[in-house]
Formats: sequence, C-alpha cells, structure tokens
Amino acid sequence: MRYKIFVLLAGLWIFSPLYSQDKNYVKAVVKSLTAADMHGRGYVNKGDFRAAEYLSKQMKKAGLQSFGKDYFQHYDFPVNTFPGKMTCAVDGKQLQAGSAFVVHPATKTTQKSFELVWLPDTLTQLSSVYTLVDTTQLAGKMLVVPEALKNAYKNGIKGVPALMQTVEKAMWWHVSGSANPSDKVILKVKKSSIPTNAKSCDIDLEAVFKPKHQARNVVGYVRGTVVPDSFFVFVAHYDHLGQMGKNAIYPGASDNASGTATVLDLGRYYAKNPEKAHYSMVFILVSGEEAGLLGSHYFAENPLFPLDKARFVLNFDMVGTGSEGLSVVNGKVFPEIAEIIEDLNAEKQYFTDIRLGGESCNSDHCPFFQKGVPAFFFFTRGQENQEYHTITDTHDKLPFTKYESLFGIVTDFVKASETSKFDR
Ligand SMILES: [Zn+2]
Repeated sequence: MRYKIFVLLAGLWIFSPLYSQDKNYVKAVVKSLTAADMHGRGYVNKGDFRAAEYLSKQMKKAGLQSFGKDYFQHYDFPVNTFPGKMTCAVDGKQLQAGSAFVVHPATKTTQKSFELVWLPDTLTQLSSVYTLVDTTQLAGKMLVVPEALKNAYKNGIKGVPALMQTVEKAMWWHVSGSANPSDKVILKVKKSSIPTNAKSCDIDLEAVFKPKHQARNVVGYVRGTVVPDSFFVFVAHYDHLGQMGKNAIYPGASDNASGTATVLDLGRYYAKNPEKAHYSMVFILVSGEEAGLLGSHYFAENPLFPLDKARFVLNFDMVGTGSEGLSVVNGKVFPEIAEIIEDLNAEKQYFTDIRLGGESCNSDHCPFFQKGVPAFFFFTRGQENQEYHTITDTHDKLPFTKYESLFGIVTDFVKASETSKFDR
C-alpha cells in the first residue's frame, strides 16, 4: 500500500509542470564529479578534461544553448603535477600521502634522504631561525619547523633548501603557486604521525611540469524572453586539486562540486521555465580556479558576450552546508543590492543568518568584478562539513542542508534583478 502511494506521488511529481530545485539531481551530480574516474578534477589523468566532458553533456541534456559550436572555451596554463610516485618515510616508516603528509605544489622530482634538524616548538619568528641555524651548513639536511612559524610551508624560508613543517590537525593541500617549480623540498607533516625528534626523512616523489596544460571552461545559456541582450551570469569552478601521487585523490565534493551542481540545476530550471528568464541566463563552469582563478580570469579577458551587458554575476563556491547561514562576499561593496538579499531573507526566512562581506579576490567572481561587473560570491556556512582541501571531501559528507533555501533566494534575487537597482 505504501508502495502504491509512493508511486502515485512520484508520478504526480514527475508530471508536475512547474520545475523547481532538485536536490536529488544536485547530489547525483556531486557523486559523479567526485567519482574515482574524475581523478579529483585536477591536472593529472585528464581529471578536469573528463569533468568538462561530463558537464557539457549535462548542459546539453538540460537544453542549454552554446555560444559557439559547443560549450567549451579552450585555454592553457603552466602547472606542476604529481601523477606518480609519492613516498615519504620518517625513521624508515612510510607516511600516508594526503593524510600524514603533503608536498608543496612547486616541488620538483625528488629522490633523497635527509637528516632532520629540529627547531624548538616555541619558535614563532622567521628571524629567529637564523640565530639558531647556519643556513650555509644545511646541505643534505631538512629543517623541522613548528606550526606556529607562519607561512613556512607556504612560502618556504630563505636560504633553507629543505623543510618540514609539522601541524597538529588539518592536512589540507593546495595547488596554487605551482606555475614555477622550485628546487626547494617543502613538506607539511602531521605531528602525531612521526616520533618526536625523528632522525631521518626519505623522499621519493615524481613531479611532472606541464608548461601548457590544456584546460576548458564550459559555458551554456538560456536566451532571455524580454531583454535577451542583457545577461544574468552564474559562475562556479568545477576543477579541484586532482591527485598528489597515485593514491591521494582529492574528490572536492564541497569545493566545488557543490557550486557546479547548483549552477547546472539553475540551468535546468531556466531552460524548463524560459518565461522566468527575463534576461539571458548564462551558466559558466570554469576550470583552473585552484591554480589561481585562471579560468574565470581567461573568461573575463575573452568573454563570449559583451561584459558591459552583464547585469550581475553570482558565483557559488562551497555551498553544500548552510546550518549557520549564507555569506555574501562583496555584499558591502553593493549595499543597495545586498539589501535585496536581506529583505528576501527576512520575508521568507531562508537562512538563520546572512553575513555581508567586503571585497575579496578569493574566488571566481573576482575577475568579473575587476572588469567592472557587479558581482557577489555566495558560500554557505556550517560545521556539518569540515573537509576543506582534504582527501576526505567526499560526496557522502555533504548534506546540502539548506539547498532549497539557496535555490529559493537565488531565483528570487534573479527576479529582483529586473528592478532599476541593477541598472548600470
Ligand atoms: Zn579550493
């Protein structure tokens, strides 16, 4: 009996003429984008290439139009990658890549044994490094520095050829800054995974520098029914960190399969409800974000429609939570437009909190904003996902807690963009 009611309801839902948000679709897209065959959507094993193929198929299925013969915009960039060997043994014990150690993205192929030289845990100032060690005597040695020494892993330490920064918790990785490989060997190691005062570190890793990694943005649109030569633009980056060696794969469910799936769902919505597309609705899924906002930068420099006709840009990056609210980067830059978001939220109680942020070049809205296009960057907040840039950012850990609210506030905001507050 229960089964029959379910079938009846499912039938009603399927034939319902009004399409709105589809959380199941969004979750299915995230699952596909984070699957093993996408290799973390990075720059090894054709990860980002495969993701782009998948996304263009989704755009076609949704009924989106393309600006050219297909949905792709091609470009390239230099990047250092780690497709093969990635081992690090401390006092002879192998550490797990991705969870016990990560390498700096600019590291070159290295096969070497280092003697470890420990600096005190209390060290916080870079300048004190030079009072404690003679950096001209560090050949064959690796300096072990504490977490408190800010940016040691990120920027390295001048005159220090090899260093290991120990950290207590999050073993997050990044790939920006990999355009210029360096002769330094820099690692980040989980403190609890190595003995205090360990003596040696054996590194065997393979790096491949690609001077022209072939990348693609994937772009579709729905033609506006009233003012088709003005554009409302949705952006999300679909690339992620890829792989650090053969075994450490970064799935990137939160960052940013979540935003990618949201943009596709919005594409389906406007394709199925064209009367809601007052302006042309553009859906831009960019790559190269993790390497430094390269895809969005390329698009802003080589737009497929006149950017001065863009009414607004909404960028989504990490939107699979929401229990603590929604953040709007650039909200303070466009107070009148941000007020619309606050009013909509007050009226419909979408989120418990809306936080307006200042200007920040921290995601793909930035290159558009720098070209003079009004733009917001939306991300959701909540403790329900804490997997930022780790190998455990998997689809099952991303609940899309407030997806209906996100979709609701976005589509209401699009409707509000018909008012003169958005005139440029
Ligand atoms: Zn990221």
